[in-house]
Amino acid sequence: MLKKEANDVFLVDVIGECTAMSDKIDTSTNGTPNYKVMFELEDLNKNTISGTVWGKYAEQMSEYKKKGIQGRPIIILQFAKIKISRDQVSLCNSLFATKIFINEDISELNDYKESITDGDASRSLGITHLSSQNSHSIGDEFMKMSEHKQLDEIPDTNKECFCATVATIVGFEKDTNWYYNSCKSCNKKVDYEGGGRYWCIKCDSHVKSAPPRYKVTVSVEDDSGSASFVMFDREVFQAIQISTMDLKDKLLKDGKGDSFPEELEMLLERKCLFRIQISKYNLDQDWDKFTVVRLSDDEDLIKRFLDVNEVAQVR
Ligand SMILES: [Zn+2]
Repeated sequence: MLKKEANDVFLVDVIGECTAMSDKIDTSTNGTPNYKVMFELEDLNKNTISGTVWGKYAEQMSEYKKKGIQGRPIIILQFAKIKISRDQVSLCNSLFATKIFINEDISELNDYKESITDGDASRSLGITHLSSQNSHSIGDEFMKMSEHKQLDEIPDTNKECFCATVATIVGFEKDTNWYYNSCKSCNKKVDYEGGGRYWCIKCDSHVKSAPPRYKVTVSVEDDSGSASFVMFDREVFQAIQISTMDLKDKLLKDGKGDSFPEELEMLLERKCLFRIQISKYNLDQDWDKFTVVRLSDDEDLIKRFLDVNEVAQVR
């Protein structure tokens, strides 16, 4: 599909599983520092496309690689450039417009991950997707597809909706656990049945292993007031870059068991753009903890958001 549509000025958004990535290669010339990283993405049909990114994009990829996270990361290149030479199609970054998301919180990326967990047993073989996406950007999710609200306006909302708000994380609610045991198929909470087995109500079946997933309730503040937001696995991982399992293992190793992990304190004093859901449950039950469905700490995006809303900025 790429081959048919591609031309040399066409910017595309591409998602795929990264099957190969080079180290950072020094391409500095005449004292001008530069680097590149080469990589390969693979799709569901085992089509592959190679690419090269330069400069800060190379830094970003190599930083991710250095973390040594297991498994093939899913990568989105937004506004990537397509290059054709000798009938070979490859990707590279545009000079400024490209954004790279590696295992981050993007709806396409989450959909992709979900489609993998939909009973795909060949996951371990690294079957992947690669598709050209022209759907909305994450920026749009905050800027256009959400109602903009300050925290004091949220309790007055009387219909289901998504709202976007800029707030600072100031504390945690520690009387509920910071993770839950999840069903691998549907990610919902499972109940321990004893004998190493769990029960998933949604899937109506026994579950043998129940990987922990984040569920962290944070207190947030803006100039207008405060609120409680519930952050789930994607968002917490995005913010602290440690998986729930790794963090739980670390606590065990440190002899801290199920105590509240200090690694989560990294979230404190962070000003973020939140997209939250005001659900039927929130309205019907007068429940004042709101689920975060998207998170960004991108300074440009926050600034753009605040400028649009003319919200006074104190923090
Ligand atoms: Zn389930």
